[in-house]
Amino acid sequence: SQQLDIDQIRAQYPILTRKIDGHDLIYLDNAATSQTPRCVVQTIEDMYYMHKANVHRGVHTISQEATDRVEATREKVRDYINAGSTQEVIFTRGTTEAINLVASTFGDMLYNGDEIIVTAMEHHSNIVPWQLIGRRKRVRLRVVPVSDRGECDLDAYEDLFTDSTRFVALAHVSNVLGTVNPVKEMIAIAHRHGVPVLIDGAQAMPHMRVDVKDLDCDFYAFSSHKMYGPTGVGVLYGKRHWLNTMAPYQGGGEMIGNVTFEHTTFADLPFKFEAGTPDYVDVAAFGAAIDYIKELGMENIAAHEHELLEEATRELLEIPGMRIFGTQSGKGAVISFLVGDISSYDMGLLLDKLGIAVRTGHHCAQPLMQRYGVQGMVRASFAVYNTLDEVHRFTAAVKRVAGMF
Ligand code: PMP
Repeated sequence: SQQLDIDQIRAQYPILTRKIDGHDLIYLDNAATSQTPRCVVQTIEDMYYMHKANVHRGVHTISQEATDRVEATREKVRDYINAGSTQEVIFTRGTTEAINLVASTFGDMLYNGDEIIVTAMEHHSNIVPWQLIGRRKRVRLRVVPVSDRGECDLDAYEDLFTDSTRFVALAHVSNVLGTVNPVKEMIAIAHRHGVPVLIDGAQAMPHMRVDVKDLDCDFYAFSSHKMYGPTGVGVLYGKRHWLNTMAPYQGGGEMIGNVTFEHTTFADLPFKFEAGTPDYVDVAAFGAAIDYIKELGMENIAAHEHELLEEATRELLEIPGMRIFGTQSGKGAVISFLVGDISSYDMGLLLDKLGIAVRTGHHCAQPLMQRYGVQGMVRASFAVYNTLDEVHRFTAAVKRVAGMF
């Protein structure tokens, strides 16, 4: 890439100097979790060594410093996703907890016979929480079909709306196919039917700019650990009027106004949904990760990843028996494939012997595997620190493994 000095970027990631079985590590499992640069880890260290005190409680200086850092990250997130207010930015443990929060609390407002629309390409974390509502009442999932190219059928989507549709939950970017769903259009369709929408942005936020106001989504969920940030932190963006309507998710400290044994009032947003001591060290460090992404420039990151994806796709397609799942042009930086009848597990194991870390199996999207009639897939996914040289070595390794069968 002309815009980014990849060598300089790589120097910020000590893990990239590791050898696996004598081979240079080539880390291509970024869609599962990205690596973490020094600036983020240094923020974690600084928090532990110099600013560790519980937040929102103490009058003392250190507690105030920790609180300021958490609230500074909240403002950074608000600004980065263009939310209207920090009241609409709730810290969670990750995308999964963010979705469970909405499914659980919005689910309280659903009745027998209500319907929720999801797509056939959802991650389990955007399927199972909605099914759990069904343990308490008869709420039914309606599923948007996915084409052979890996795209949602929008006509079929619109046809799924009935008088009983109460909610839509869909991925912005598929973690398997890389498909970028036309979420703005899909949200507009849902809103025409008076139905709110949650977007699972876990795979979008690391690779594209997201503007929640422009999308007009009602909820947007994502995870820090896929965005060069620390583990244990996620965000739920929610429109204030929905968050005010929904009951609290968990009870405990931080989320209350006044507590007696007879009656408890709840804190204002966003604290109403943040019971207990938050992961304030990692929240603070997530702020450093957002600064890092902004410094590199999301357009530059995306352009670099796109170049890697194009090259990898071109080279993989030269291998006999290669089958790539998800062929949308302009898709996200993931490439899922199978070669002949080599199992994803065997391919992954042999690539690992060559120092290459890829994902294998069902990718937490078993219904999508069923859709394509496969047990699993091999997935390579890119981040800003990957190089064209790594792509060449990866595709050569796939070719070599394919030749062994
Ligand atoms: N949705 C998608 C599309 C994902 O790729 C992931 C992460 N694999 C999740 C949700 C869940 O994210 P987390 O495990 O960070 O909660």
